[in-house]
Amino acid sequence: MKYKIYSKNRRSHWIDIECIIENIDSDELIVSLPAWRPGRYELQNFAKNIQSFHVFDQNNEKIPFEKITKDTWKIQAKGTQLVIVRYNYYSSAINAGSSFVDEQTLYINPVNLCLYRPEKIREKCSISIDIRENEQIAGIQSIEDVDNQTKILHFDDFYHLADSPFIISKNLTHDSFEINDTTFHLWFEGNFNIPNLSQITDDFRKFATKQIELFGEFPEKVFHFITWLFPNHKYHGVEHRSSTMQTLGPFIENSQDFLVDLYGLSSHELFHAWNICKIRPKELLPYDYSKENYFKTCFVAEGLTTYYGDLMLYRSGVFDYEQYLRELETYYKRHFDEADGASQSLLESSWDLWLDGYSSSIPKRKVSVYHKGAIAGQILDLHIQRISNKQRSLDDVMRKMWKKFGKSVNGHPLVGYSLEDYISICEEVAGEKLEWYFETCIAGTDSLFGLLNEYLKDIGLSLQKNEHDLVYLTKI
Ligand SMILES: [Zn+2]
Repeated sequence: MKYKIYSKNRRSHWIDIECIIENIDSDELIVSLPAWRPGRYELQNFAKNIQSFHVFDQNNEKIPFEKITKDTWKIQAKGTQLVIVRYNYYSSAINAGSSFVDEQTLYINPVNLCLYRPEKIREKCSISIDIRENEQIAGIQSIEDVDNQTKILHFDDFYHLADSPFIISKNLTHDSFEINDTTFHLWFEGNFNIPNLSQITDDFRKFATKQIELFGEFPEKVFHFITWLFPNHKYHGVEHRSSTMQTLGPFIENSQDFLVDLYGLSSHELFHAWNICKIRPKELLPYDYSKENYFKTCFVAEGLTTYYGDLMLYRSGVFDYEQYLRELETYYKRHFDEADGASQSLLESSWDLWLDGYSSSIPKRKVSVYHKGAIAGQILDLHIQRISNKQRSLDDVMRKMWKKFGKSVNGHPLVGYSLEDYISICEEVAGEKLEWYFETCIAGTDSLFGLLNEYLKDIGLSLQKNEHDLVYLTKI
């Protein structure tokens, strides 16, 4: 599949797409647009942003088609060698998973707006795109220069394309560093001066190094941290196999608060390069873009990533101990002050992400797979450390998950893990049965306040409640 992406009128927020299908070998073609994007487990139905949709043959004559579901079209291709689908996509929202165009920036999340052929989803694809003078492209590994203006972006298959957001702009600030044989790019979009860029790059190198030490290797040869900066509040990141797209603000020069948010978000997203991009729940392998992909283990994908994102910043020295405690206290408060006593377990809230995971739910219903998931992860970590006399920890669980489920050996496809696989690796590392843990922390709905406190003692901390029943963290 070949795509051409442009915008006839950037101020209007319309992105124009041509999807070119060659070597047609059947009378009918099926094309679909994803109904959701990996990283956010809810239906977003991107097809609702398409205004006009037409199909042409090699002579530029219109050919018939019909829409057979909300986001699937059947094209009558009898007698044609080439089909061009021309459509437009309205892109006025800016978040880490959207697409947007204006005079300054062309920001594309291909999963929003690139059609795919379900039966040819593993075929190579490319995007042809024109850039203007002094513009750069952030986020893409393989760029072919046709000339100064026209660039072709190459992808292994539709999964790769859908997982490769990019920004084209004149206002990109760039830096990079290397660890082993991987190049990490830092891209900042926005009309801002970043005076402490070299310090930021150095801090990124520190936490990336610690994460790579944990797993022993990085899954990719190139990784792009793409951060779009704003003067107002934003805090959103989406993980991808060789990048993360982030929207963040307010950006204030040399602000410590901004750096804490930037590092917190980026360390979390980098951890996903292993945990979910590679170590993936088997229900998400491969992604089915047409419908809900239900899974029970988002407390592993998001909870452990939340726990490790901050822990890695502390271990690498990017966060001092006091800052680390503030991060811990933040997610303790989010859970215990806001969601303790909810009727759902982590397993149930993971399953129901597709229902109300990203909107406010009715009272006392769901728990956060991020916050309660991180607390459950910390309890397990401290338990394994306690029973092994600090010889083993959750690090060993992550390493085993990587070796068994994340690392593609000799080019074999990833296999994906089940809840039972995760339980069995945890028990293997612990050296004992952990039924009590999974019943209480993962499948249970009783408060974890007492249990967490019992384990926090091991690291000299105590979680207290004030007169308004709100939690706060203290050192013993
Ligand atoms: Zn995440």
